[in-house]
Amino acid sequence: MLLPDSFVFTQQNLQDYKDCAYRFYLKEILRLDWPAVESEPIREQEALMLMGTRFHLLCQQYFSGIPADVLSGQITHPELTDWWQNFLNLNLHPTPGSFSVEKLNTIPFGGFRLAAKIDLMLKTDGKIIIYDWKTSQHQPKRQTLLARMQSKVYPFVISNLPASQTVQPESIEMVYWYPAFPQSPVIFAYSSAQNDADQTELELLAAEITSKDKEAFNKTDNTKVCKFCRYRSLCDRGKEAGTSELDEEPADSDAAFIFDFDSI
Ligand code: SF4
Repeated sequence: MLLPDSFVFTQQNLQDYKDCAYRFYLKEILRLDWPAVESEPIREQEALMLMGTRFHLLCQQYFSGIPADVLSGQITHPELTDWWQNFLNLNLHPTPGSFSVEKLNTIPFGGFRLAAKIDLMLKTDGKIIIYDWKTSQHQPKRQTLLARMQSKVYPFVISNLPASQTVQPESIEMVYWYPAFPQSPVIFAYSSAQNDADQTELELLAAEITSKDKEAFNKTDNTKVCKFCRYRSLCDRGKEAGTSELDEEPADSDAAFIFDFDSI
């Protein structure tokens, strides 16, 4: 087996594997750093990445008890101001002990661990609501989002935590909330059937990964994925980065997810 005993599966590395087994091999087994931008235009994407980082930090500070008006006074960027106001309009005021923020949750999984870092988890009236802040400029189609590994891994991890044993999967809900599109969150309810299906899929995937030899981590046939992959020059799949606005459905690649800070 090529994976170290300390390896931790995440939605990001499982998504990498599904997108391209060779990318998983380069990133997770060889741990190969390869300098290349993942999406163009660079300056614009860097600014967006910075704004996404600041938005996540503002939310974290808000839930740690810093008054909203103090945080509002620190924002100078007009678009971030709009995002922040949209967030405040959600009117989230959880009581102490009923929520966690930016928390890394892990469960045993196939001889390793499976981890999910949750932006905000609320426990209210016997329900658990998982929030994920999506600061991308694109809002993928609902079906595309639901097919992502994140939509399987997050609720699966939360429903299988020891602390969730008294909570039925039917009481878990996941919310993808976009500060740039506050009126159209993508919400889906979890279920026992979905939990069973996710368990089967995730375990099969982990078994496939752990049983592979080096030569079996093949490059993807979908070269569209390569446009947004840092290893494209290494793989001889082009030198220029893809332009994130070009694709009507950018979630076919990582473009809509690059700046969502879910990389653990
Ligand atoms: S450039 Fe393409 S083939 Fe190479 S690792 Fe990236 S996605 Fe895989």
